Amino acid sequence: MSLEPPICSSCGKIIAPGEAAVRFSCPNCGEVIIWRCERCRKFSRIYKCPKCGFEGP
Ligand SMILES: [Zn+2]
Ligand SMILES: [Zn+2]
Repeated sequence: MSLEPPICSSCGKIIAPGEAAVRFSCPNCGEVIIWRCERCRKFSRIYKCPKCGFEGP
């Protein structure tokens, strides 16, 4: 396990502890954990999987 802070997959910002961010595995390859920060959730920004390049809302 990595101790690096999670980074939002949409905007690239570090996600602060306690922030209402969501985490889920890539729906395409399932190998990458996608993080989305509170703001990107709110604005339904596109995220992109760094491994397979899958993009989703
Ligand atoms: Zn974000
Ligand atoms: Zn993927």
